[in-house]
Amino acid sequence: MSEIGLKFNRNISQYQDTLFAAPEEVEGLPQSYVEFRTRADGTCAIDMSYPSYFSFMNFSESDDARRRLSYKFLNRAKDENLTALDEMIRKRRDLVNVLGYETFAEYQTEVRMAKDAETVWQFENNLNSALRQKAEQDYVEMLVFKSETEGRQATAIQPWEKFYYQKKLLRVKYQVDAEKVKEYFPIERVVSGLFDLYQELFGMEFRQVENPSVWHKDVTMYEMYDSGSGNLIGHFYLDLFPRANKYQHAAQFDVRSAKLYLDGRQTPVAALVCNFPKPTADEPSLLPHDDVETFFHEFGHLLHALLNRGELEGLSVPRDFVEAPSQMLENWVWQKASLQRFARHFKTGETIPDDLVERMIAAKNLNSGVNALQQVYYAILDLTLHDGYSPDDNRSTTDIVRDLQNEITLYPYQEDTHFQASFGHLYGYAAAYYGYMWSKVYAQDMFSVFEENGVLDTETGMRYRRIILEKGGTEDPLELVKAFLGREPSNEAFMRSLGL
Ligand SMILES: [Zn+2]
Repeated sequence: MSEIGLKFNRNISQYQDTLFAAPEEVEGLPQSYVEFRTRADGTCAIDMSYPSYFSFMNFSESDDARRRLSYKFLNRAKDENLTALDEMIRKRRDLVNVLGYETFAEYQTEVRMAKDAETVWQFENNLNSALRQKAEQDYVEMLVFKSETEGRQATAIQPWEKFYYQKKLLRVKYQVDAEKVKEYFPIERVVSGLFDLYQELFGMEFRQVENPSVWHKDVTMYEMYDSGSGNLIGHFYLDLFPRANKYQHAAQFDVRSAKLYLDGRQTPVAALVCNFPKPTADEPSLLPHDDVETFFHEFGHLLHALLNRGELEGLSVPRDFVEAPSQMLENWVWQKASLQRFARHFKTGETIPDDLVERMIAAKNLNSGVNALQQVYYAILDLTLHDGYSPDDNRSTTDIVRDLQNEITLYPYQEDTHFQASFGHLYGYAAAYYGYMWSKVYAQDMFSVFEENGVLDTETGMRYRRIILEKGGTEDPLELVKAFLGREPSNEAFMRSLGL
């Protein structure tokens, strides 16, 4: 299974194909993008890498060239991976049959928060219908905009038009200039702002360690104390800036886990590894709002790791809940009350204006229904392939992709494409892709308690720390969530968060 899976992902990452676009087909793209890819014969070579692909889909004025590029992109690795995927599905089924399970989804969900495949199906089907209203609003907004742009009544939006019209709409109607937004987020303010908020909300005190023993001079180290008792909770490191040979994304890593020994507790140690722009002698580091959100998210994982009061090291939080506490904390970078405390212009010190925050939120909600529905489609596809489907019956994985896309998303399936061949998560997230939206729904539900009591309410913060964070993986997350909410969970808060 590992061999097939690794091959599946290698076929995707090593796959090469190129669209040779004529000069008029790259109109709309930045000059540097075009220059970098122009060949001696004047055509522009667009490869399948994300930066090449997404910029082209966002900006090329040529509908036909976008269609052709999308066709190539959705057929990546199809010659080898359609067979590899069938093989992967067969092997998974064989394995779980030996273990006495009917389907791979049943086997995977048993130890998760969801507990069985049926619950996940119900969850996805509920979301699917609840999301229709916002998704249709989104679709109509795009259709009206396309009609205005083309000067005639448009009747549909093709999959290769979605990014293009979305980008244009953001520019024309929502007018959020990311470069201007950045000016309100100099890194020192963001770090101290997050520290202040989290210390206050969750009853902690962070103290920087002088001259720490660290792996690079950019790295800083802190002690975390409980502000009530003054007891040491643990230590953490911040490694925030890029350098050669460093991990290239943002993530939290456990260095030492919380654990109880006969002679007392081992305090946990964790590190936050990010790649934010580094300040220079004459320019401060200004964080794009996405990075601010990432920082609040990843620091949430750090809190979860450090505040864990569990006795055993091996009890990890189930994978379909582990993102929820961090996803919940993303909300603090979208709230006026919390932003007012630290989002200040790096030159003038002016607090981020309310109308800018409102425009940022409106822009976030553009296509939020359509995008969420796309996630439901991925989850249902993953679930379908791992819950009773057999590649040896009369339906191919392509039949399933075509039917589900047409049924769930509002954008029609592009004929003769095989997106599943390059959907790498079918290996890593087999029957687990649902976890992304699942945890988001619980995250927003938990956030609704803060919405009600105030996002700076320390009493709610402390309850959250005790009930959710300190329990780590020692109890069923569903019971913890219910205890924190004081009621049964629902997806209402999630729907609200999409701008409904
Ligand atoms: Zn995360």
